[in-house]
Amino acid sequence: MQPTWKTIIEPFKIKSVEPLGFTTRAERERVLRDASWNLFGVAADKVLIDLLTDSGTSAMSAEQWAAIMRGDESYAGARSFFAFEAAVRDLTGYKFVMPVHQGRAAERILFAVAGGPGKTVIANSHFDTTRANVEASGATAIDLPVPEALDFAVSAPFKGDMDLRALEEKIRELGGANIPMIVMTLTNNSLGGQPVSMGNLRRVSEIARRHRIPLMLDVARFAENAWFIKRREFGYAARCAAEIAREMFSYADGCWMSAKKDAFVNIGGFLAVNDPQWSARAREFLILGEGFPTYGGLAGRDLEAMAVGLREVLDEHYLEYRVRSIEYLGDGLRRAGVPIVEPPGGHAVYIDAKRLLPHIPPSGYPAQALACELYLTAGVRSVEIGSLMFGRRENGGFKPARMELVRLAIPRRVYTQSHMDFLIEVIADVAARAKTIRPLRLLDSSPRLAHFTARLEPETVQ
Ligand SMILES: *Cc1c(COP(=O)(O)O)cnc(C)c1O
Repeated sequence: MQPTWKTIIEPFKIKSVEPLGFTTRAERERVLRDASWNLFGVAADKVLIDLLTDSGTSAMSAEQWAAIMRGDESYAGARSFFAFEAAVRDLTGYKFVMPVHQGRAAERILFAVAGGPGKTVIANSHFDTTRANVEASGATAIDLPVPEALDFAVSAPFKGDMDLRALEEKIRELGGANIPMIVMTLTNNSLGGQPVSMGNLRRVSEIARRHRIPLMLDVARFAENAWFIKRREFGYAARCAAEIAREMFSYADGCWMSAKKDAFVNIGGFLAVNDPQWSARAREFLILGEGFPTYGGLAGRDLEAMAVGLREVLDEHYLEYRVRSIEYLGDGLRRAGVPIVEPPGGHAVYIDAKRLLPHIPPSGYPAQALACELYLTAGVRSVEIGSLMFGRRENGGFKPARMELVRLAIPRRVYTQSHMDFLIEVIADVAARAKTIRPLRLLDSSPRLAHFTARLEPETVQ
């Protein structure tokens, strides 16, 4: 047995560095005013620690950069394509592999092939671009998460699971023929990056097979999911992450991936299926919108970097560091009395702004107000997942979102433990004076995806 050390060391050395964006308080006040209290409008070099997203923000390894130099940029049949195809097949076991420029391109193609009016796609939870692409095809998207997923204060090991009884009932109600696929999102991004258990995945697969409905996996964070299974599910402690991942893929008929997450690349994705008919039709849409099937909207070098990243992410020293450093941030915040979504997920910690700022009603955008205060205090950028993002504003009315969260998404291999310590210090400081944080008022926003362009200002004291 190796001793277990308390300190989580980064399992890498650093060869190339970038400066952080240091600013003064006065500068940040000006920047925030100019951005109309919308952190999407802040220039990245005015941000000290950027937790806006874990998507496309990973640090690539020396091996990935070396692979980039080997990129074969031939239009058709590039060597880089075959390296990439072999990496995806080796991992997933699926026959037909199509590169795309990012996850949503795979979704658009898949639902153009299999969606359409009158059909319903059922998922543990659709990610927002997935839902948008299901609906754009004319189909309906239904989420059937386990009930405990919606209770943020309750900690459970696999809050990403599908509600199996609800799934059976829904299939009976709609009829299998009207359900073109069942989708399992690993990890469950919309519900806090919570993992799906192997037991649940296996049972969903059995139900899908019994009703002859294809099962597709949305695997942006498959390796993080595999690691949670190893750590939390009975019978998997001695299995390696790669084996666990292969078992996960074995239960489904195909998958798609935003490689901007667990493949450590800054752009890229793929769709992989076993069904030759789906593959043939998907290839037509691929050529229409992305490019020839051996490059699919990417450069040969991008395919090489993805191939390397898909293998590197299953390194257990990396996964241990990844998951533990997010738990560490969660532990630090909990100790400081900051309410978070329990337990922390695989890629982010979510602060429950409804509980931290009970004096601000949803119409005062508590999570956005908190995110702005974190920026003002120390240049930390996070993202609101609440009524600014999901609230409905129609005909002068206001319908708040179900939750008011601030997401602290952690880019992969980018920040160190001392950055996590710094974050805990800053957030504890802000939480201690939570009562003084003022509500925001929405000045204007676009009807769709309001959070990207909304303009706000602090409410003046009455
Ligand atoms: C990010 C993500 C997508 C969309 O991928 P993009 O690369 O951003 O287009 C789809 N599903 C899940 C679960 C994701 O996390």
